[in-house]
Amino acid sequence: MATKARSIQTKRPMARRAGAHAAKQLLKTYHQKRDFKTTAEPSGAEVVAAEGNSFVVQKHAASHLHYDFRLEMDGVLKSWAVAKGPSVDPAVKRLAIQVEDHPLAYGGFEGTIPKGQYGGGTVMVWDHGTWEPTEGDVHDAYRSGRLKFRLKGEKMKGLWALVRMKPRSGDRNSNWLLIKDKDDNARPGAPDKLLELDKSAKTKREMDEIAAGSDAWISKPAKKAAPKVSAKKKNRKPQPRRQASSHPN
Ligand code: MN
Repeated sequence: MATKARSIQTKRPMARRAGAHAAKQLLKTYHQKRDFKTTAEPSGAEVVAAEGNSFVVQKHAASHLHYDFRLEMDGVLKSWAVAKGPSVDPAVKRLAIQVEDHPLAYGGFEGTIPKGQYGGGTVMVWDHGTWEPTEGDVHDAYRSGRLKFRLKGEKMKGLWALVRMKPRSGDRNSNWLLIKDKDDNARPGAPDKLLELDKSAKTKREMDEIAAGSDAWISKPAKKAAPKVSAKKKNRKPQPRRQASSHPN
C-alpha cells in the first residue's frame, strides 16, 4: 500500500496524537456499518492523523455499480459515491453523494465484500495518487462546499472540483457535483473516456479477475473465525445499526 506508507511518513508526533483522536471520531459511522469478523475491509484500528494527501477511486460492483471517490483529509478518507464515475468533459457534472469517512487503510482495499454485508460486492482500486487543494484553505473550502484541487493519479489528472449542492429537505446525505475543470486533461465531448481504462491501478487486474481471485484481501474462511466470534459476542454490547444510506452501496 504505497499510498498509506507515503501518508504516514511525514507526520509530526504531537499533531499525530491529537489528530488520531479526531480521526477516530470521524470513523464512528464507518465502524457502525460493518462487521469486521465477516468482511475483510480494514477496520481502521491503526488510525493515524495525517497531513498526507492521498486520493483513491474504488470501482465498486455493489447492488449498483459506482465509483467511490476518496480524498485524504484530517486523518481519514472523505468519501463520495459517484454512480456514473468521473467525467472528463467539463460540461458534464457527475452527482457525488457524500458517504461516511473511511479509514486511510481503506485506500489499499481491493477484493470482495461478502454478500449480505454492507456494500457487498467486488472492489477495485481503479485509481490512486495524490491531491492538492488549489484555492484557499482546505478546511474552509470543504466546509463551504467548494473544493478545487489538482489530482496526480494514474487516470485522473489535473484540475477538478467538488461543489456541494443546496440541501433539500429529506436529504440524508449531502449531494455534491464532481466536475472536471478545464485544462489539458479535459476531454470535451468524451465524458466517459477515462472509464474505458478499466484495470486496477494497484494490481492491473480487471473486475472479474478480482472477483475470482483468492488473494489476501478476500474474506477469511468463516469456519475458522466462528469460535472466536461467539466467544467475543457474549461480552459485547449490542451495537447500534444505522440504516443503510441511500447511496448505491
Ligand atoms: Mn461503495
